[in-house]
Amino acid sequence: MNQKKRHLVTAALIYANGPIHIGHLAGCYIPSDLYVRFLRSKGEDVKFISGTDEHGVPITIKARDEKKSPQEVVDYYYNLINDSFNEFGISFDIFSRTSKKIHHKTSSDFFLNLYDKKTFKEITSSQYYDEKENQFLSDRYIIGKCPTCDNENAYGDQCESCGKTLSPMDLKNPKSTLSGNTPVLKETKNWFLPMDKLQTNIEKYINTKKDWKSNVIGQCKSWLNDGLKPRAMTRDLDWGVKVPVKGAEGKVLYVWFDAPIGYITATKELDPDNWEKYWKDEESSLVHFIGKDNIVFHTIIFPMMLMEHGDYILPENVPANEFMNLEGEKISTSRNWAVWLHEYLKDFPNMQDELRYCLITNLPENKDSDFSWKDFQQKNNNELVAILGNYVNRVFVLCENFFNKKVPKISSVEIDKQIFSELENIKEKIESSIRAYKFREAMSYVIDVARLGNKYLTDTEPWKIFKDDPDRVKAIIHNSIQIVANISILCEPFLPFTSKKIKSHLNISDLSWDSVGSNIMPTDHIISGKAHIFSKIEDQLIEDQIKKLKLSNENNNVMPQKNTIEFDDFTKVDIRVGTVIEAENVPKSDKLLKLKVDTGLDQRTILSGISKYYSPDDILNKKVMVLINLKPRKMMGFESQGMLLLADDSDGNLSLMQPDSDISDGSIVA
Ligand SMILES: [Zn+2]
Repeated sequence: MNQKKRHLVTAALIYANGPIHIGHLAGCYIPSDLYVRFLRSKGEDVKFISGTDEHGVPITIKARDEKKSPQEVVDYYYNLINDSFNEFGISFDIFSRTSKKIHHKTSSDFFLNLYDKKTFKEITSSQYYDEKENQFLSDRYIIGKCPTCDNENAYGDQCESCGKTLSPMDLKNPKSTLSGNTPVLKETKNWFLPMDKLQTNIEKYINTKKDWKSNVIGQCKSWLNDGLKPRAMTRDLDWGVKVPVKGAEGKVLYVWFDAPIGYITATKELDPDNWEKYWKDEESSLVHFIGKDNIVFHTIIFPMMLMEHGDYILPENVPANEFMNLEGEKISTSRNWAVWLHEYLKDFPNMQDELRYCLITNLPENKDSDFSWKDFQQKNNNELVAILGNYVNRVFVLCENFFNKKVPKISSVEIDKQIFSELENIKEKIESSIRAYKFREAMSYVIDVARLGNKYLTDTEPWKIFKDDPDRVKAIIHNSIQIVANISILCEPFLPFTSKKIKSHLNISDLSWDSVGSNIMPTDHIISGKAHIFSKIEDQLIEDQIKKLKLSNENNNVMPQKNTIEFDDFTKVDIRVGTVIEAENVPKSDKLLKLKVDTGLDQRTILSGISKYYSPDDILNKKVMVLINLKPRKMMGFESQGMLLLADDSDGNLSLMQPDSDISDGSIVA
């Protein structure tokens, strides 16, 4: 329960190197927006803060790839993201950006405060430096030969061929991706947060958080059990907040040092006179909504920074969500396997709430969840249209037909009190679910109100008794209009556009959450007739989306054509049909099989990275195609004298190439 005097609610600063997709929305933007709308409707004091995170290496890489400046990259994405959020109705009080001057000043002052307190540990280490580009190289800017699998293009932090985590020093023949030159080692000093020393304080803090979600506590515990290590809070990079101390020329703050301070900056920017109340008064509750990939930064590193500073309150809760998948697969921006918000808004104009509803009912609150277009259609047609929309429209039509759009006067004895006590009941259930960050559950209670209303009409059948008992019908319609008015309030945090639509049909303005359960609509108040709230989504629209998704994914999956070659180049290649006569696994390798292949000319050893797809038994006695004049290569202690031809899609799925008939070994492939 969170019942403090005022609330500061933050939604993760989104990284400004791509547009928003449904995974972001389900991760933190919809939950935070829903929570804040609820608090506002309760009349509580709340500020809702977010923005773009515009520093860090990936932005400099994107800028280089697109031949733009980092500022141009972040300007472009800030606008795209901000426009999508606005149109989608995420109700931030401010959506700021970390490249602003005010943020550079705020985060730089924060660093100085800790620097003056001697919080940081200065550590000098040797790092790769590109002498041509005059800069230190971050891990992703260095490639070289993987010490494990000999892949020539392993990155300084990871080999994507064998999956091993690396440090730049592990690479053989390191090269700078900026200049292509061999980098030199150069000493550099950086400032580290001594997380090992501060671990006990953080443990004490986290141990008091009995109401945190189990997925969040689980991650915290796993970091703490491994033992925290000092982490550099500065980087040798030229894009970011300059480190404001002597001897730090050419260095910027670590992006995860400055980004969370962005919440402070944005609050300051929003309310220059009162921002401190929200950050420094114990009567304020600070809640961070994020996705699971940001948990450690918000539950351990940022609280550590705040503790060391000393002037600030600590996060009260960090209700992080897990990930949302798409059609059963992980969302992937590089493979374009995503539903992009700006595209959705174009393809489904004025259907913000339809998407919101589908995402809320699918929020990955405790485990990963899945979005599918079919499910989106079903939820819209079977729940929004058939239950909620249908009920609201029924009441409007009855009121129009029987009472000429006027809210009828109750003249019979009140025998429907039970309806209102049930409304009161559901309201309390919704409220406690929201305060416990159980938004899926809360959403289902809202739909229950429409079910309750529908049942009331079905049980009382006003259309049958109008002639015999008009007074009873007056009461039924009067009460039904009250239920619809109650729904318009209860659904506001979840479906704000729908709430607005219903209110405009009722001819009422905003009402507070606490008026739920009472008679809201006065007698003789005029409402509008028919209320078309939701529309069915036809199959075609859904099929188009599925097609679009698959198509963009396929296009993305096909490697572009390589440079044109001469026929002579091709004739240099000697490919033969052969037969695998021996096959075994290579010890300590999860990729390689060691094969003996009869090429018709000789029998030779060939190592092939196919063990994920073929076992030794699968491949034994199979006809294969072998490139036989490839220069022999050593792998895992064996010499490979040729290469099997394989088809390889961009997901790394391999398929063995074979002749179509039982042609003899040694046949030439051309
Ligand atoms: Zn490797």
